[in-house]
Amino acid sequence: MKFQLLPSTFDDTGRASARQHLACFVVDDLIAFDAGSLALSTTSEQRKQIRDVILSHAHLDHIAGLPLYIDDLFATIKRPIQIHATAEVIEILERDIFNWSIYPRFSELRNEHGVVLEYRPFEIEKEFAVKHLTVKAIGVNHKVPSVGFIVSDGKSSFALTSDTAAVNRFWEVLNETENLSAVLVECAFPNELSDLACNSHHLTPKVLEKELSKLKQRCPIFVVNIKPMYFEQVSRQIRELEIENLRILDVGRVYEF
Ligand SMILES: [Zn+2]
Repeated sequence: MKFQLLPSTFDDTGRASARQHLACFVVDDLIAFDAGSLALSTTSEQRKQIRDVILSHAHLDHIAGLPLYIDDLFATIKRPIQIHATAEVIEILERDIFNWSIYPRFSELRNEHGVVLEYRPFEIEKEFAVKHLTVKAIGVNHKVPSVGFIVSDGKSSFALTSDTAAVNRFWEVLNETENLSAVLVECAFPNELSDLACNSHHLTPKVLEKELSKLKQRCPIFVVNIKPMYFEQVSRQIRELEIENLRILDVGRVYEF
């Protein structure tokens, strides 16, 4: 399985920056998990292929690129963009984003080929198929309704926490997952901002260490979703944990799981 966290910003030399402002993980150049930078950083191949977008929650850094992506492709869409999300998240998108004020309600629009956007609601802890992937959403502990994902292509699996504070169920399900090849876990704030992390339902390196002790499987663990402002501080504190299989996911790099 090919996996890539799309870049969201550029450094002073114009190259993709290691800082992650937005969340959009592309699998096999075909399916996107979250859509933060979907319209901004996709290759032309990805733009041609990605018609399935699976959303963890409706926070702006996870959906910002979605309206722009549909807008960009509007005239060329033959197979409608499928947005996979919980009913709660779909309701938020229709009410607060695709509401004719922020952006057009694409679910009511058609191009010359037909409808351009369809919602595919999924239920928590009920497996669903998207192309060649099997996906299971697990409720996590965030400020708004949010899910993490366990994703399999039949040969390997990976898990993605999305935004969350401490959880139990997610790790329980992971411990029962076969062929787990990688876990992507958030860690937004440094230890010094534990109050802010707690109030906004995110992790710090210290809490992350506790969380990882709940995982009984042995596989590479990648940290994502570090707030850009605290990237160096959080990176250092993660290194200081001295957990051998724990590293920070490189933005833009293509991984094979
Ligand atoms: Zn969030």
